[in-house]
Amino acid sequence: MDLAAALDTALFFSLDALALRITMPGLEDIPFTTAAVIGKRDAKDAANGSLYLKWRLTDLKQSALVCMVFGEAATALCQLIPGTLVAVLAPGFDGKGEGCLKVTRPGQVRAVGIAAEFGYCGGTTRDGKGCSMVVNTSVCRMCDWHLNQISTKV
Ligand SMILES: [Zn+2]
Repeated sequence: MDLAAALDTALFFSLDALALRITMPGLEDIPFTTAAVIGKRDAKDAANGSLYLKWRLTDLKQSALVCMVFGEAATALCQLIPGTLVAVLAPGFDGKGEGCLKVTRPGQVRAVGIAAEFGYCGGTTRDGKGCSMVVNTSVCRMCDWHLNQISTKV
């Protein structure tokens, strides 16, 4: 199914709407799509030696949702970097009730582009490393925690 056809036929949930519904009974029976930016990304080897990915999807506002990527999809999509805007088509669920999307087929994810507003917090941690919190650079270049630190010092 191509992206346009998928978007025409499936219900679309924005990430904030999906985050509210993720534990809703019966959601796994509804074909839906969502779109979000890959925030943090981990690639790991499962006990059986196969690669899997753990994406923390973000709408660059307040909502975030974990998406686990397994099997053929993990191999095909492991090159996608943080900041990539993806459409997720008819995902499954990993761990019922825990609020986590699951993708196993490469066709369930379409990379749309790179989010221009994606960035990392400009603050530094106590050990001198850059803060790894994802921020919307068009709104603020600091995460809430670092912004709060600055405002309490003033
Ligand atoms: Zn920060």
